Amino acid sequence: MFKNKKNTRFLGGARFVGIYTLSLFVLFLMLASSFFISQYFYQIHESSSVSILIAYNLLGSLISIGVFVLFCLSIFSIRKSVSNAQSVVQVLRQSRDRYALAISGSGEGLWDWDMKNDTVYFSEHWNKMLGYKTTTEVRKIEFWENLIHEKDHDAVLEALNAHISGARPFFDAKYRIRNNFGSFLWVYDRGRIVKDENGEMVRLTIITRDISNIKRAEDALVGRTQQLELAREKLSDEVLNTKKFQQAVESATDPIIITHPDGRILYTNNAWQLATGYGFTDVENKNFSFLYSEKTPRKIILSMKASMKEGEVFTSDEMIATRKDDTEYNAELSLFPVTEKGATIFYTALHQDVTKRKEIDVAKTEFVSLASHQLRTPLSIIRWYSEMLISGGMGDLNEGQKKYAQKIYDSNKRMIELVGALLNVSRIDLGTFAMNPKKVSLATVVKEVFAELDPEIKKKSLVVKASFEDELPEIYADPGLMRMVFQNLITNAIKYTPDNGRIAVFVKKEGESNIVFSVKDSGIGIPEEQKNKIFTKLFRADNARETDPAGTGLGLYIVKAIIEKSGGNIRFESKEGAGTTFYGIIPVNSTS
Ligand code: ADP
Repeated sequence: MFKNKKNTRFLGGARFVGIYTLSLFVLFLMLASSFFISQYFYQIHESSSVSILIAYNLLGSLISIGVFVLFCLSIFSIRKSVSNAQSVVQVLRQSRDRYALAISGSGEGLWDWDMKNDTVYFSEHWNKMLGYKTTTEVRKIEFWENLIHEKDHDAVLEALNAHISGARPFFDAKYRIRNNFGSFLWVYDRGRIVKDENGEMVRLTIITRDISNIKRAEDALVGRTQQLELAREKLSDEVLNTKKFQQAVESATDPIIITHPDGRILYTNNAWQLATGYGFTDVENKNFSFLYSEKTPRKIILSMKASMKEGEVFTSDEMIATRKDDTEYNAELSLFPVTEKGATIFYTALHQDVTKRKEIDVAKTEFVSLASHQLRTPLSIIRWYSEMLISGGMGDLNEGQKKYAQKIYDSNKRMIELVGALLNVSRIDLGTFAMNPKKVSLATVVKEVFAELDPEIKKKSLVVKASFEDELPEIYADPGLMRMVFQNLITNAIKYTPDNGRIAVFVKKEGESNIVFSVKDSGIGIPEEQKNKIFTKLFRADNARETDPAGTGLGLYIVKAIIEKSGGNIRFESKEGAGTTFYGIIPVNSTS
């Protein structure tokens, strides 16, 4: 730029020297011509004197000088206007350069529509932005129009027409324009029409800005806004649901507590507050175990803690809870972990006062106990007399009478067994199951039970085997109850094993302090889906009901209670149709 300025000055100086040389030359020519013209007139008019010649010469010279001065003045004025014009051009050029530089520096393109000649100039940056080559070829407005995306076309032309018609002070439009690679670019055009002194529209100059990034950000923002809107809707739905649940829990008649995973109380509902007399603030953040009295069996508290540690469900109706006024009540606690991504986030606890239910249960059990007890005497009398009849103690019976007397005897026997079992169960439930530990040999017990059940074994042609480890120690337990355990297990094995099946009992020592045993049969087995109920009171599996409709479902309940009361435990393995094995462990020195 600076170089161009210097050149212009230099060229101006040279032109100045030339013009003045030319002027002096013209002056010289004029003076010479006035001299020759005056000479010529002097010769034509011979009569003229020398003074006339001088006068001619002076006049010629004056005219020449005058013409020369006029010539110089006009040259000077022309030069001044040329110089003015040049500086205007210079200023214009500088301003255009600055403008172009500013536009290219801002990363914007420019296009200029000469409306009179209908040609469009697209700046270098405009071409670069869209991947077109900068060219000197004349482009028409249609070139630009054809690049507009069809979806934006009408809106852009509408905006342009609105500006041309004067309805809008500017032309501005955001639209997609096709680049040289066939894809579309979002641009923002803004410009205005330039009018000449007569108010006629001569050009439209537009600045084009690439707004793809802004558009992308806008789109992302719109997407994000929509997502947020959805999330907000979801959240308000959730809030509504939560409110519904909260209201349901709030107005539930069952006492409910919600705790942190570590047991600190988070929430209690109205029913719980009514039942215990505590307000929420009395118990907030306290560990809910403070609600249970020391009378709650320790093993229950330990098992509850273990379940919570493992994030498992826990249920027990053996809790003794305390109210705010220190009164106690029987509570049934059901703890349910609520998990998220495998981790317990809180516990919901149903905490019911079951004092009344327990009282009714006790009353029922007492009634069963009393009834069973009272039934034993008449049942025993029936047994004696039916025995007497069958044995001929009252005179010989004919075959028909014998048959019916035998039926009375068998049914009576079953009834005695049932009453005996009911009595035992009610004793277990009432906690009055007395144990009288003595030294007892399990081998002897098993042998005696087998002997007792020999008629049934023979009837079914079962192969039985009893194995005992050498030097099996005697254990310290209630002999009657031990007999009851093996009676039940071996009777079941016989009952649920088809003819010609096998039964094996094995008793051995485990370590110094325990005896382990197993009772194995090749019978009907226990259906998989009913295995978890086998030790429940009165439960009988479907296949057992079909095989022997007369069972009570009380035997295993009693067996389990006896073994556990003796400090041992019992479990089984079974496969339906393939047999069952019960495994038991009993301490050599029973704790009870
Ligand atoms: P039941 O009088 O019905 O035998 P129990 O309490 O002794 O009552 O047994 C409960 C249930 O356990 C039985 O009804 C039967 O379904 C199942 N069961 C017990 N022992 C066996 C066994 N050895 N084989 C198959 N099922 C058995």
